[in-house]
Amino acid sequence: MTKKHILHTARLNNNCPECYDTEGLEFTFTQEEKQSKFYNQASKEVDEKLYCHTCKNIIYPVNWTEDIERVYQYHKKQVHPKSTYIQLKSFSYIFILLGIVAIAAVAFLLWNAN
Ligand SMILES: [Zn+2]
Repeated sequence: MTKKHILHTARLNNNCPECYDTEGLEFTFTQEEKQSKFYNQASKEVDEKLYCHTCKNIIYPVNWTEDIERVYQYHKKQVHPKSTYIQLKSFSYIFILLGIVAIAAVAFLLWNAN
């Protein structure tokens, strides 16, 4: 299962390359995170999307103007992706803890067997 995290959104007052409206553009930066029973892991890639709310179009980077590119560079710096380290869930910790307890118990029994 993957979950999308919205890291950063920003409204632009640049002209939309499609409809020339100055109030429709919005950048959305998202990051996917894989979620399993035992751990979560965020994807390395951050997804960037420029969407125009006025003409309901996704504006692809080939159509970006220099101004949009500049605003994009600025907002890219505000994005702080989640760490891509594997985050164990508490369920996994209980498993590990039970393992340690089991090994300790076996070691204790062996020690006392003589
Ligand atoms: Zn537009």
